[in-house]
This record gives sequence, structure tokens and C-alpha cells, in this order.
Amino acid sequence: MRYVYAIDVGGTKVEMAVGDETGRLVATRRVPTGELGRGEAILDALADRLRALTPAGIAPDAVGVGSPGPLDSRAGRLLKPSNLPGWEELAIERGLSDRLRMPVVLENDATAAALGEWQYGAGRGADDMVYVTVSTGIGAGLIAHGDLIRGTAANAGELGHVIANPGGVRCHCGLTGCLETEASGTALARMAEERREASAWFRAYDGPLEAPEVFEALRAGDTVAREIVRHAADRLAWAFGLLVNLMNPERIVVGGGVAAVGALLLDPIREAMPRYAMPDLLSSMTLVGAALGADVGVAGAVAVALRA
Ligand SMILES: [Zn+2]
Repeated sequence: MRYVYAIDVGGTKVEMAVGDETGRLVATRRVPTGELGRGEAILDALADRLRALTPAGIAPDAVGVGSPGPLDSRAGRLLKPSNLPGWEELAIERGLSDRLRMPVVLENDATAAALGEWQYGAGRGADDMVYVTVSTGIGAGLIAHGDLIRGTAANAGELGHVIANPGGVRCHCGLTGCLETEASGTALARMAEERREASAWFRAYDGPLEAPEVFEALRAGDTVAREIVRHAADRLAWAFGLLVNLMNPERIVVGGGVAAVGALLLDPIREAMPRYAMPDLLSSMTLVGAALGADVGVAGAVAVALRA
């Protein structure tokens, strides 16, 4: 049995795991991102913690890392991730490879998650599939003909930054009207705050309105919440329509913190899709929720490592 290390980097926490070649996680550990320090110290801390995590008698032979983009995958380093202070320009592939004496592969986190869902989750058996994460941000991983589409600089799948509303809200990426500004968890929160006075449920809620409150208001029958979710679902359906017409996928798997509400978001997307995708291509595609839940990041990083 082959074993590998997995690291899923996030703005608030870093998850580490030892996984086997079937994707099973045999040891896991979660560390607050801030505890790992800055710059080179991060590499020492990651290597130390992976060694400490390794069960006796097991010898992992590769490391897979999923990280928020943008990345320089060819050089195996991060660029300027907006929510990871101290990680700028971090050469994680070479740095960890020097310390652990094994190959290290860095991938965009959405790409890693796509690999995880494809090999161990809701994408299993589909040679043409797209994984879309709808969370604080929006990203995608693309699988075609049974292989990953990475693009010339390995940044393919930036679905969150296709323009879904020209002239809309300025995005942190520098563009205006990105899908992420219309349909992410951050967008749902912004739209709810903008319309707080129009909704009795929002007005009565004492605290910042975030995506979970929007769905809670929707469950309670609030019409403003319904309009906000419909709008986000419509913009997602439009983007999925592009994917269907361009890639003719067998499956679109939707995961991420916001999509965890399931049918409340997926049903309005399914209803809107006939407006944006060609009927024949749409009829050969199924839209499903992700299967791996909170483990998708490390499971994906295991899948990344197994490709080394
Ligand atoms: Zn953007």
C-alpha cells in the first residue's frame, strides 16, 4: 500500500493528512494558519508537523498541496494570495521537497478538490466533469477525457472571475462584475445587507447577515431572501451553461460551504439552466452535490500527491 502526505491551505486553517492510495485518510491534523509563522518558517513548521503526524510503520513518498490561487505552478510557488499574509511568493514545492526528501506537487485548491471528488466522491466514473466550489469565493476544476485541464500556467478553472454582470461590482481580482461578486457567499451577504430594510426577517435579525442567514430567511418564506438566492442561482446557471456548451460534461459537481445547503441552491440552478445551455447537451449532463464534505480539501491533496 502506498501512502502520501496531504496539505490543504486555507486562510484560517491548514489541514494536514496522511492518506493511502485508495484515498482513505489514516491520520489528520488541523492547525490555525497563523500558528505556522511567515515565510521560510512556514516550511519548517509544515515539515515538522507532517513528520509528527506520520503513524509508526508508514512511509509516505510524496506530498500534495492544495492552495488558494493564483499560483505559479511551474515554479511550485504561491504568488500573492489575498488571505494568506506571510505566504507571498512561498516556494512550497522546493522548500518541502528539500526538507522531506520526496516529490511535492502544488495545485490550486479548486483543482485539487476536483481531483478529490473525481476519484473518491460524486464525480467517480465520469471522464468529463467539472467541479465547482461555491463558498466565500467561487472556483472550478475541469476534467476532460479523464484528465485534468490545467492550462498554460496551471490557472485554468477561474470560473469565479468570468464576467456575470458587466458594469456590476468591482472584484478583488481587478475585474468588474465577476461571478464571484454575484453568487458567492460574500455576494449573498452583500446583497442581504443592501436589502436589509426590505425584508422583515433581515430587519429582525440582530447581527451581520451572511449566507447562512439568507438561506434561513428563505426557509422561513422571506421573499427578499428568495429573490437574492434566485439571482445567485441564475448567474451560476448562466456560468454552468457556458461550461455545458463548451465542454459537454457528463457531470457538474457542486461543493463548497454555500452549496452545502443542497437543494435550496441546486434546485433553482437546475430550473434556470435550460435558459443557458443547449437542450441536447443539457440532457446528457447531471448536476449533483459534492460527496466529500469538509474533507474535500485534504482528499483532493491526497489525489494530487498520488499523481507525483
Ligand atoms: Zn474577479
